[in-house]
Amino acid sequence: MSKQAVFDCHTHIAEMSHLSGPFLAAAQRAWGADFHFACTIDEHKAAVASCSGAIVLAVDAPATGFVVPNEYVAGYVASSPSRLFGFASVDPKRPKASRLLEQAIKELNLKGLKLAPIYQDFHPLDNICFPLYAKAEELRLPVMWHQGTSFVSEGPLEKSRPAALDPIARAFPNLKMIIAHLGHPWVEETISVVRKHPNMYTDISALGSRPWQMYNAIILAIEYGIEDKLLFGSDFPFSTPDETLRSLYGLNEMVEGTRLPRIREDVIERMLARNTVELLGLN
Ligand SMILES: [Zn+2]
Repeated sequence: MSKQAVFDCHTHIAEMSHLSGPFLAAAQRAWGADFHFACTIDEHKAAVASCSGAIVLAVDAPATGFVVPNEYVAGYVASSPSRLFGFASVDPKRPKASRLLEQAIKELNLKGLKLAPIYQDFHPLDNICFPLYAKAEELRLPVMWHQGTSFVSEGPLEKSRPAALDPIARAFPNLKMIIAHLGHPWVEETISVVRKHPNMYTDISALGSRPWQMYNAIILAIEYGIEDKLLFGSDFPFSTPDETLRSLYGLNEMVEGTRLPRIREDVIERMLARNTVELLGLN
């Protein structure tokens, strides 16, 4: 396992009171009626203790009942400003969404924007969203997209395709964007967008529990030559950074004894050593 501490670009904090409606019901269906979203501030601190730092995401998704306020994230990351970087979240359908984003950055010292169309119920190409993208570009904020599937039945899958981000990347070439979870299950579509645009990245978070998908995703990223745009992330609490590292190192064991290609060690080591803070301009 890698000796140096890794940076986790994708983590959540939340209290149970931040969950309601469709999100909570779907979580209880998936993980039982006594489902506990184990990502309180103390649980987060313990999970990222071995990391060099982490991005902590707010979520403004009243449409599906997942609302982690910007203030809550800001209060926590302020306790460790050299290691923790909070991303604001703003539902683009809110009146004066751009103003809300600017306030979250300037008054709460947050460092990026988290968007999740499948939870927030908007289409990325809806005209009402473009002022928000322009504001993010103006403020030099990276935008982290959950552009992939979800366990929440009510979430609109048709608004969650990675290819929908291509026109945004063309309209805002300086805007740094990250497609979370390699856009699972649309890994190929994600790679096609990331490959085209110098300022687009993707993270490997949440893929560890599906090692065959994670293996194929990384092999494909190498075949398309975008392996240096892969960011390490866990999607805590869905998995911890340590679990994600173990998954990553287990991939080559899975194909041991077969003639399938191994993931090159140097690709993994470069991903783990990547300076995400500098790359995304978080400082
Ligand atoms: Zn996430």
